[in-house]
Amino acid sequence: MPPPKDPIKYAEFLKHNSESHKGLKMPPRTDEWRRKQSESHKGQKISEEQRQKLSAALKGRPSPMKGKHHSEKTKKQIGESCKRVLSAPEKRSKISAGLKGHPVLESTRKKISAAQSGANGNNFGKKVSPEVQKKKEQSMRLFYEDEDRSKAARKKISETHKGSKHHCWKGGITPLNNAIRSSLEYRSWVLAVFERDCFTCQDCKKKGGKIEAHHIKSFSRIIRENHITTLEQALECEELWDVSNGKTVCKKCHMTNYSTRERVAR
Ligand SMILES: [Zn+2]
Repeated sequence: MPPPKDPIKYAEFLKHNSESHKGLKMPPRTDEWRRKQSESHKGQKISEEQRQKLSAALKGRPSPMKGKHHSEKTKKQIGESCKRVLSAPEKRSKISAGLKGHPVLESTRKKISAAQSGANGNNFGKKVSPEVQKKKEQSMRLFYEDEDRSKAARKKISETHKGSKHHCWKGGITPLNNAIRSSLEYRSWVLAVFERDCFTCQDCKKKGGKIEAHHIKSFSRIIRENHITTLEQALECEELWDVSNGKTVCKKCHMTNYSTRERVAR
């Protein structure tokens, strides 16, 4: 009896065969046989119902690859064909659509993450070539250009980096910081620094425009070292209002010449 073409019947046929042919030797599955099989099944569409029946019929059968390993040649071939598939946008969207509604369990996600993070990651310790870097940037840009996705992604990033989760978190000093910065004392310190420097950026010597008063010794460090917790204490702290600790810089120089860490920690 030739193997039936219908996938469900084929699965039943296989099952039946394996039962009734126990101990019998099957003809070897030559490359020729495989090619013919592949040809005869090409373009065949399996409906969801059929798929489920097929799955049920094949349940319990060990994976044909169980305990075996692909040869280096096969691995390479699989890699190539994956690359081919993944480089075609329509195929990618097909895969994506097919995976939709199949959520990955949180536990599975964690397992994958643990297995791939840090030193286990594919790219651990590897340098990214300029071309790859460029591609990465390109895909990032594409991702963020999609407004809805961008909004959602930004919100997610914001949530996970907010407040105490941020690496610059200083323990909730924003209210005090804001109170000091909006105080009259602070504004007159800024003005005193500007006047001493003739409203000129001390780095690029540009006069006027957008200028800022930079704290040579950082604002937050002074607050920390003097154990300042209230506005009153801040107003009494001489070091905080020392004009010689200030420096007039234009916005551009402030951004480029002083590290983010320093600026955030002001
Ligand atoms: Zn400047």
